[in-house]
Amino acid sequence: MSTTEKLFGTNGVRGLVNVDLTPDVAVKIGLAIGTFFDRKNLLLGHDARTSGSMLAKAVMAGLTATGCNVHFIGMAPTPSLQFAVKNHKMDGGVIITASHNPAEYNGIKVIWKDGIETSHDQEVEIERVYFDKSFSFASWDKLGEVRELSGIINAEYIAAIKKQVDVEKISKKRFHVVVDAANSVGGLTTPHLMRELGCKVTSINANIDGTFPGRQPEPCPESLGELSTTVKAIGADIGVAFDGDADRSIFVDENGEIYMGDKTFAIVLKQFLLKNKCATIVTPVSSSTLIKNIADSYDGKIEWTKVGSVTVSHRMREVNSKLGGEENGGVFYGPHQAVRDGAMTTALLLEIMAETGKKLSELVAEQPQYFIEKRKIKCPDEKKAILQTRIYEQFKEETISTIDGVKMWFNDNSSILIRASGTEPVYRLYAEAKKKEKALELVEEYSLKLKELLQKI
Ligand code: MG
Repeated sequence: MSTTEKLFGTNGVRGLVNVDLTPDVAVKIGLAIGTFFDRKNLLLGHDARTSGSMLAKAVMAGLTATGCNVHFIGMAPTPSLQFAVKNHKMDGGVIITASHNPAEYNGIKVIWKDGIETSHDQEVEIERVYFDKSFSFASWDKLGEVRELSGIINAEYIAAIKKQVDVEKISKKRFHVVVDAANSVGGLTTPHLMRELGCKVTSINANIDGTFPGRQPEPCPESLGELSTTVKAIGADIGVAFDGDADRSIFVDENGEIYMGDKTFAIVLKQFLLKNKCATIVTPVSSSTLIKNIADSYDGKIEWTKVGSVTVSHRMREVNSKLGGEENGGVFYGPHQAVRDGAMTTALLLEIMAETGKKLSELVAEQPQYFIEKRKIKCPDEKKAILQTRIYEQFKEETISTIDGVKMWFNDNSSILIRASGTEPVYRLYAEAKKKEKALELVEEYSLKLKELLQKI
C-alpha cells in the first residue's frame, strides 16, 4: 500500500453512493474489517439513508466471508449501536452512516468493543488489509452467521439513558418538547424517550425518509427555521434537532432562539462540575472561551485536544474523564458512554431545567456572552503543511497553542483559531470576542494575514 492511499477520514469512510462507495467497495471494506477482527461477533446497523440497506448487506457479505458473526440491528442512531456493542459484550460493530452529509453520501464507521470508534492505528491496519487485498477468507464450513437483533436495541438504549437522569423530577415538569429528527434515525428513539420522561412531544420531520425532504441533516441555524418557528408557535419549552445519525444535538429555547453547541455544553458542564468537584473535562481547541470560563469558575480542569470526536472519546478514556463536549453539538457523557449522544444530551438538559426551575433561555443568559465569527480561506491540500509552518513562524511571539493549527488568546478574552480543514481544501478561522465588532475585526485581520502568507508560497 502506498502511504498516500487512505480509506478513512476524520470520521470513518465517507463517499458518494455508487460513485466512491459502490456495493463492490463495501464488500471489500467488509472483508478488510472482518479480517482485522478475525472471526469475532460484530453488530451491524445503518441510518435512514436510501443506500443504508444496500451497503449494510454488502458489508455483511464481506464480514461473514471472513468468518465474523454479524448481529444485524437494522436502523439505529450511531450512539444506540455504540451502546449495544458494550451492552451485548460484542467484539465490535459497524455502522453505515454519513452523519451530517447530504443524502447522496454514505459512510462506514468501525466501533471497538468498548463502544468507541476505532483508533487511527487500528484504521491504518484495516486500510493495509484493504489495499493489499490480504483478506482472510473463511472456508465454506467456517463462514460467519447472521442473526437478527433488531427491535430490542433501541428500547434498551432508551432504558439505559433513563437510568442516568432523575425521571421523576423531569416527569413532574410535563415539559413540551419539539423533536426534529431530520427524517432520520433520531426519530426512532428520542420521541419515545421524551414520552417516557413524562414530556409532551411534538415531532417534525419525523417520518423516516432517506432523501431527507424536510431539511439537510446538518443541524445548523439555516436548516432549523421550521423547528424554531414550531417551538414558538405552539409554546413548547424546548426544541431539539439531530444530525443524520443522532449523535449531535442542537437546541432551541422557548422563544425560538437557536443555540450553537458551546452554549448548551456549557450548561451541562456547569451542572456536572457542581456535582463532580475538580473533575477533568475534555474539549477540542475549537471550543469557546465560555467553556474555559465555566471550568475556571467551578473548579474544573480542561484537557484540550485536536478537533475530532474520536480524539475526544479516546482522550476521555486515557485521562479517565467523565465529560466531553464540542461546539458542533456533541456532548460525551461518560457515565452513560464516552461518545457523542444526542438523546442523552437532551435528557441531561431537561434534568437541569427541572432541577434549577429555569427556562433554557435563562440558563443561557446567565453565562458569559461571546460572539463567534468564522471564515474559510481557500488553500490547496498540497500547500496546507507549508502554510502551517509559515503560520507558526509568523505568530510564535503570541500566546499560542499548537495542539491543532494555531490558537491565539489575547488579553481581552478574545481568541482566534486558524486550522487546516481535514475534509476540504480550505483553512478555517474561528474568531471569538466579548463584542461582535471585535470578533469581526479579528477574523478580517487574520484572514488578510493568512492570504498574504499563502501568496508567498
Ligand atoms: Mg453524526
